[in-house]
Amino acid sequence: MAGIDALADRLSAYLGNDQVNLVRRAYFYAEQAHDGQRRRSGEAYVTHPLAVASILADMHMDHQSLMAAMLHDVIEDTGIAKEALNAQFGETVAELVDGVSKLTQMNFETKAEAQAENFQKMAMAMARDIRVILVKLADRLHNMRTLDAMPHEKSRRIAKETLEIYAPIANRLGMHNMRVEFEDLGFKAMHPMRSERIRAAVRRARGNRKEIVAKIEESIQVCLQHEGMEGEVIGREKHLYSIYQKMRGKRKAFNEIMDVYAFRIIVDKVDTCYRVLGAVHNLYKPLPGRFKDYIAIPKANGYQSLHTTLFGMHGVPIEIQIRTREMEEMANNGIAAHWLYKSNEDEAPKGNHARARQWVKGVLELQQRAGNSLEFIESVKIDLFPDEVYVFTPKGRIMELPKGSTAVDFAYAVHTDVGNTCIACRINRRLAPLSQALESGSTVEIVTAPGARPNPAWLNFVVTGKARTHIRHALKQQRRSESISLGERLLNKVLASFDTNLEKIAPERVQAVLGEYRQEVIEDLLEDIGLGNRMAYVVARRLVAESGDDTLPSSEGPLAIRGTEGLVMSYAKCCTPIPGDPIVGYLSAGKGMVVHMENCRNIVDIRHNPEKCIQLNWAKDVTGEFNVELRVELEHQRGLIALLASSVNAADGNIEKISMDERDGRISVVQLVVSVHDRVHLARVIKKLRALKGVMRITRVRA
Ligand code: MN
Repeated sequence: MAGIDALADRLSAYLGNDQVNLVRRAYFYAEQAHDGQRRRSGEAYVTHPLAVASILADMHMDHQSLMAAMLHDVIEDTGIAKEALNAQFGETVAELVDGVSKLTQMNFETKAEAQAENFQKMAMAMARDIRVILVKLADRLHNMRTLDAMPHEKSRRIAKETLEIYAPIANRLGMHNMRVEFEDLGFKAMHPMRSERIRAAVRRARGNRKEIVAKIEESIQVCLQHEGMEGEVIGREKHLYSIYQKMRGKRKAFNEIMDVYAFRIIVDKVDTCYRVLGAVHNLYKPLPGRFKDYIAIPKANGYQSLHTTLFGMHGVPIEIQIRTREMEEMANNGIAAHWLYKSNEDEAPKGNHARARQWVKGVLELQQRAGNSLEFIESVKIDLFPDEVYVFTPKGRIMELPKGSTAVDFAYAVHTDVGNTCIACRINRRLAPLSQALESGSTVEIVTAPGARPNPAWLNFVVTGKARTHIRHALKQQRRSESISLGERLLNKVLASFDTNLEKIAPERVQAVLGEYRQEVIEDLLEDIGLGNRMAYVVARRLVAESGDDTLPSSEGPLAIRGTEGLVMSYAKCCTPIPGDPIVGYLSAGKGMVVHMENCRNIVDIRHNPEKCIQLNWAKDVTGEFNVELRVELEHQRGLIALLASSVNAADGNIEKISMDERDGRISVVQLVVSVHDRVHLARVIKKLRALKGVMRITRVRA
């Protein structure tokens, strides 16, 4: 029996019949999809997904993971769409396959700065369902096992990525066995000579050590029996890659490393661990400072064990690990142990992450009991339940941002100046709105323009404190300088009617007035005027007080609006004035000036009150775009919106907003917000609209 039948047979040991059949179906689907494709080794391609599923079957993974394993290369290699898998196998399996494909597409190599740890985190963040990672790890494991068939360069690249990304991920998830295999296979591919030399040396040393190992093992066994305790004593060897790392990192000679004898004692329960510890400390003298209690204080990935080092006979160092059977299983399989050893019967699938949560919860409890949750939160929780997104700069640097961050947050994270002058962004080389939430794995490029300023609207969508603070700060600065300049213009306009201006007023007089207002510098006073907190004409009268003229100046001409006043001047939403309209300014305390149409109903009562309103006109060189709302009644026709849009466009106008009401079957009423330069421009737009077929009436909307 071979292939899918053999696997199905093994699956029936822990999966129901229906589930086994679903896995079969996925296999046949993959077989057909990959028809004609071959592995580099010459085998039919489908042998690869089958082998991946088989690895997951060893871990007793659920049927959905196995189906995803069967289908994991289908989207990537055969062009079958996710939707097709969705229709065939359901949403969960389609999502899993899609997740694995996304990880596969992530090219770790091409990015200039390799930041292995962030890549690991990014991979985790991209996989919303932890099973995606497990399928991907199994996929990578099979590829590593069959790496020999690959051309040299490619196999090195895959091996490097495995050592830098996938082995650490396996480690984070507590999957020791998988990590060791990744490391030894990766080491072999990266450094075949070194790997072979160490392998040979280990083989030789094993022969020399045999006798001593047997002796120590026996002495421990006897000791346990003597104390009436049961335990399994296993001699262990370091794996090749860890020997290599020790030789490199700690600059130790091979013999030094191999002179250590290592054993593991597996017992029934926690209590026994400590009793065994006492017994072996009695047997051989413990090396001071080497005892570690990872049962009371587990490692970040949930690893639990007692570690100690003893002086054996003739002074040979003996490293001992003591743990329960359950701890052993967790140490070897980590998060996957939950699939391996929990019964499947009573556990319906609890949605994504259920298993992972269970594992994380377990680890969290362990850590909390140990009063050491900080490390855990750092290295595990963030990975599995990402509150971060990881995105690339155009140069390949990885930026870590809180979930929901936008391009503006990104810009400020890169540099304050980039944030302050940002005007647009490209996400994965496409222009995108600045407000769009970023997704892990995207490349974000910020377009800046010299002299550009932060937009107050950004405050509505940024999530990082840094962006918020800097936007506020920049706006405050901008507002202050704009208020000062408007205040100065307002004040000078009034002073002009007294035949003077601010520069002609004696400095002592200015100081005296500042004193009255309890202000230090003239800018503060001007800012107050610009913001509408103080009336320009009241201040002006104080400044010219010695003239004794206490009457209101009468020759006051209107102030000219240039359209460049900035944040301290705004245009009323109720009447939306545009250049050419007769206007007045309403000073609202703290907000600066709001420009209304002269006949706007909202200001009819205060229009002639000089403390609140000021006569304005438009400067000849007024600039900017002004929004007006138009109401167009026309006969209903197909493609009507497009027609309107192209007419407005033909008159160089921009449509900012459009909405439509159908009054009856025949007549449509369209509300258009159009931006124009002035009344003349508006007239041109209206003329174009009027020329359209079926247009009956156009009115400018005023509240
Ligand atoms: Mn694959």
